[in-house]
Amino acid sequence: MSEHQSTDDNGLRLAEREAVELASELIQIDTTNTGDPTTLVGERAAAEYVAAKLSEVGYETTYVESGDQGPGRGNVVVRLAGEDPSRGALLVHGHLDAVPVDASEWSVHPFSGAVQDGYVWGRGAVDMKDMVAMSLAVARRLKRDGIRPKRDIVFAFLADEEAGGQQGASWLVDNRPELFEGCTEAISEVGGYSITLKDGVRAYLVETAEKGIAWLKLRVRGRAGHGSMTNQDNAVTKLSEAVARLGRHRFPVVMTDSVREFLAGVTELTGLEFPEDDLDGSIAKLGGISRLIGATLRDTANPTMLNAGYKANVIPSVAEANVDCRILPGREEAFERELAEILGPDVEREWLSLPPVETTFDGALVDQMHRSILAEDPAAKLLPYMLSGGTDAKSFQRLGIRNFGFAPLKLPADLDFTALFHGVDERVPVEALEFGTRVLDRFIREA
Ligand SMILES: [Zn+2]
Repeated sequence: MSEHQSTDDNGLRLAEREAVELASELIQIDTTNTGDPTTLVGERAAAEYVAAKLSEVGYETTYVESGDQGPGRGNVVVRLAGEDPSRGALLVHGHLDAVPVDASEWSVHPFSGAVQDGYVWGRGAVDMKDMVAMSLAVARRLKRDGIRPKRDIVFAFLADEEAGGQQGASWLVDNRPELFEGCTEAISEVGGYSITLKDGVRAYLVETAEKGIAWLKLRVRGRAGHGSMTNQDNAVTKLSEAVARLGRHRFPVVMTDSVREFLAGVTELTGLEFPEDDLDGSIAKLGGISRLIGATLRDTANPTMLNAGYKANVIPSVAEANVDCRILPGREEAFERELAEILGPDVEREWLSLPPVETTFDGALVDQMHRSILAEDPAAKLLPYMLSGGTDAKSFQRLGIRNFGFAPLKLPADLDFTALFHGVDERVPVEALEFGTRVLDRFIREA
């Protein structure tokens, strides 16, 4: 082993240890994001913590707050110069906020960041202070050891992802796009983690697509009147009928490329078949991940809120409902047509939409994902997949950036990882953080 090699190893070992420490300390900063700006606690503290960790090793940090909802929505961006600035930069981003928690349900305090039984415990451990800690540890290690990656790397640590990124990624894309200048590709959550398909067969799922989010408000107007009299134009009745029709509707199965490639990969690895006439049944055999994959077969529209009336004997003139719609890439127009048919002409519609995301699973960056994982887990297989939820990728797509979910974690076979997202006793294995740091170190240097 050359002297250079051993220095290099020491630097990497330090980064692995730091990733665990950073994850624990980030969890201890309560960054709950309820969507209501008056309840904000520690987003700024977390951003300042990250900025301090970066400037400590010599980065010039840019700290930005949107200011739209008052102070405190901290975002931190730094750039590490690569060997070849003419190549597009790689964006490595992660959000610092986390979803609310009911501490009474947990077996450890959710903001303890406890490191015990081989896990780091707490809110954000998998969504996504794990990836934030790993990329921060790698960013520090590269600077400390004077390592130049092949291309420019932009590290971004962001506010507000859990409420749609309006004060984080989306705001920065609209107001500070120069921070991402030259970025052509990005990695972040939710992907890169392993699932064990059968004994010793591990697949790492790389997110290449996301369903679109469309929050739909329905409004029906009718004739107001006394509750004791006949009324053929009752807004509550008309709205209820429309909501029930929509809630019961099953949208058609549409196989997107990401889902098709994922299922073909599983068949190749396990022999499990996915016949078109029993897709739901065969996908259920995949275990925990089936909840997620099952939701990427078709569009969904789930009624979630109803609002009408103010007194038992008064027929109101207006009734409203909210529907959470999730739409496959390429289905936007077809979905709207189908929806219009189900609802009919009397139902007014108001949309709050974030588009679907989709890229192909190929090219030099994907090859480097393969190499970086295989160097640490030689029997691994990488599969693309579609996320049923949404991430900040939706905002960065607006800058023409190709987005991947690649936050590498090698997980124990019996861990129901997908259940830990926003879940009780959220935790990440210490060994997985160390593994992910080694993979990311190689990936970011060579990408
Ligand atoms: Zn997340």
